[in-house]
Amino acid sequence: MKYLGNGTSKIYETLANRWIGDFEELLDLDFFPHFVVENIKNEKQGLWRYFSSLPLANEEEKVSLGEMITPISTLKLPNQREILVKQDQLFPTGSYKDRGAAVLISFLKELGVREVIQDSSGNAGASIAAYAASANIACTIYLPQETSPSKILQMQAYGANIVKVKGSRQDTANAAKEAAKGLSYASHCYNPVFFQGTKTFAFEMAEQMHWDVPDALVLPAGNGTLLLGAYIGFKELLHSGAIQKMPQLFGVQTAACDPLTRAFNHLAPLAEGKATLAEGIAILNPIRAKQMIEAIENTQGSFVSVDEMQITETWKYLVQNGYYVEPTSAATIAGAAVIAQTLPLSWKIASVFTGHGLKSSDKIEKILHK
Ligand SMILES: *Cc1c(COP(=O)(O)O)cnc(C)c1O
Repeated sequence: MKYLGNGTSKIYETLANRWIGDFEELLDLDFFPHFVVENIKNEKQGLWRYFSSLPLANEEEKVSLGEMITPISTLKLPNQREILVKQDQLFPTGSYKDRGAAVLISFLKELGVREVIQDSSGNAGASIAAYAASANIACTIYLPQETSPSKILQMQAYGANIVKVKGSRQDTANAAKEAAKGLSYASHCYNPVFFQGTKTFAFEMAEQMHWDVPDALVLPAGNGTLLLGAYIGFKELLHSGAIQKMPQLFGVQTAACDPLTRAFNHLAPLAEGKATLAEGIAILNPIRAKQMIEAIENTQGSFVSVDEMQITETWKYLVQNGYYVEPTSAATIAGAAVIAQTLPLSWKIASVFTGHGLKSSDKIEKILHK
């Protein structure tokens, strides 16, 4: 297996310290498995069912915390429209990032990696810290200073070494990249293997829907780890004939920081983001923006931005219905409600709960005690 330089067609060995090309170009993975329904391992509960579609050699060596196939529930939106919601907040560390971390840490373990660096504003860090702990791999996480205290606590609890960086999210990423020179950078956005884990979202959803797919799938759009993963997964299913059509993909951003909605609609770029409850998707410079816009365009979807009021109202509605999720997840459902209004009533619409409410008590406190 090799890495492919995006835009340069250069080919690189999958070395432990390789996460960007020689020309600073992004890397993709040269791996396009043919999805075979008969190869699904029915005795496995979660994403390891699809082992033959994962870029891993040794199933015995995989790093697993007992992931499950996350349930899909029907949610009636405030306007009475029903959508399907895949409950990925139920993963071991409380967010879907475990899909990516499970596969990336397993991949790095196969390469013999003993130490990883990561940067994250929360959930990706918690996932990498948990799976690294399980694999006995040392882990250092660079964080922006304003990261949710409960998320920092979770990473510390897993034994990760925490480095808080003053300044913007970009400053944190830069510090991590500097530290990662020569080491293994387990980045959820740079390392293309992370998306090989998040693509299992598409496999599970299609299998749960008996190889049908939703007409529209509404996903959060920050760095695109779920959006691009789902796109890769559905493409593999389509090319191998396991499904007959591609869902239209929609990306939800927060109006406080929505570079993709702006680029998609040919509006001027943002100079900086504002504070938001939806911390998980407030990414000013998503490095895979071009790929994300392509995924949305190729499936005839679009981007939508929701404001703080919509996020707050949707979060309250979700807890009233018993779902305790992160405000970032409420933003995605608020976006799904906006998009649903533009789609035919006969369309099957699906979305996702990305993170558990227990992760962002500080943001939830702000909503409740305002
Ligand atoms: C990471 C994350 C997102 C957004 O994912 P991106 O990969 O940045 O697009 C959404 N919700 C939660 C809870 C997250 O942790």
